[in-house]
Amino acid sequence: MANVLIIGAGGVGHVVAHKCAQHRDLFHTICLASRTIEKCRAIAKGIGGPLQIEAVDADRSDAVSALIRRCDADVLINVATPYQNLAVMEACVQTGIHYVDTSLDDERDWVKYDYSDQWAFHPRFQKAGTTGVLSIGFDPGVVNVYCAWAQKHLFDQIDTIDMIDCNAGNTNRKFATNFDPETNLREILADVIAYEDGAFRTSPALETRRTFHFPGIGARETYLMTHEEVLTVARFIPGVRNVRFWMAFNDEYLRHLRVLRDIGLTSIEPVLHEGHPVVPIKFLKCLLPNPADLASESQGITCIGCLIEGRKDDRPRKVFVYNNCRHEDCFREVGSQAISYTTGAPAVLAARLVLSGAWSEPGVYNPEQLDPDPFMEEIGNMGLPWKVNEL
Ligand code: NDP
Repeated sequence: MANVLIIGAGGVGHVVAHKCAQHRDLFHTICLASRTIEKCRAIAKGIGGPLQIEAVDADRSDAVSALIRRCDADVLINVATPYQNLAVMEACVQTGIHYVDTSLDDERDWVKYDYSDQWAFHPRFQKAGTTGVLSIGFDPGVVNVYCAWAQKHLFDQIDTIDMIDCNAGNTNRKFATNFDPETNLREILADVIAYEDGAFRTSPALETRRTFHFPGIGARETYLMTHEEVLTVARFIPGVRNVRFWMAFNDEYLRHLRVLRDIGLTSIEPVLHEGHPVVPIKFLKCLLPNPADLASESQGITCIGCLIEGRKDDRPRKVFVYNNCRHEDCFREVGSQAISYTTGAPAVLAARLVLSGAWSEPGVYNPEQLDPDPFMEEIGNMGLPWKVNEL
């Protein structure tokens, strides 16, 4: 039995807390901490059984270290925002506990798109004898594991990986983001970095598009996008030549997005308003719906997976490894929409694998560096079954 500390009480934190509570066989004490304790209280109210709640400023590693000691935590699941990752990792390595997160760390005033600060913790985690699993949501996260599993079991050589993501769900809102608006809009509008012909190449956002046929959904227009897993899959899947990430957007969504961008509301550069600096995207976040509040009205399914091409036994092979997830099912089970669910459930499984010893190598790892088998065996039981279509 182990104690878990969850940091972040947003949409994903809600799922992580519920999923940990479903696994009380492993998690003896569950502590949920966030900046605003009322949000922790609201989540705790919906969970049967004891759940400790705390307020914490996770930008301060000393505050997180003190909290880890108070909760006597063995593993920390960090689902606050990407800006807290480094401070929380620092606290974990200083107190000698395991660490799990779901996104690449970032800076508030510039786009980083680089794992080197998180990877720099590797020797310190090794020395402390603890494990850090980075970016284990769905994408990044489960898709990275799909790649490692395909490399291990389906291919002798992988040439091309296209990670594709479609949320075909609807809400009653004209425009809403899938998760934290600030992080979500920043990533959609960033210059695209894709790995093609063995090199990273840059192109403008929302220009390169392709139609994909998503199982359970049908044909959808997808757009080439910058995403964390392109950086790591290109590095850790041996010999791969092309790694790209595509996301489906409908015309209505893109129309709103382009207007917001073109009038400057998605900018991270502060502007002066009546003598006060205002960061436009932060102001926009206040106006947009909180994705966690859309759970009850989200309907429809998501499809996220990897289209993988290469060779097996000297013959070409092409497969699509994927998951379908229905918003309504997630709401029935834990009171969340599918985007939060598909992010939170894998993070809890990662914590479980680290504690059980299946993923216990000391150091800091991206998901595709770890043995994919125990994860692929268990992720269906966590609520995210997968399929392979031979194409
Ligand atoms: P939300 O914005 O809904 O929640 C973030 C939570 O973190 C909020 O409760 C917020 O507190 C809290 N928080 C922010 N700053 C601090 C701080 N300094 N100290 C303590 N708590 C803080 O985000 P989501 O739940 O949608 O996303 C959580 C994480 O998951 C993000 O990192 C996101 O990028 C990642 N993600 C990953 C995906 C994947 O597939 N890999 C997909 C979707 C999300 P407050 O309520 O006070 O604002």
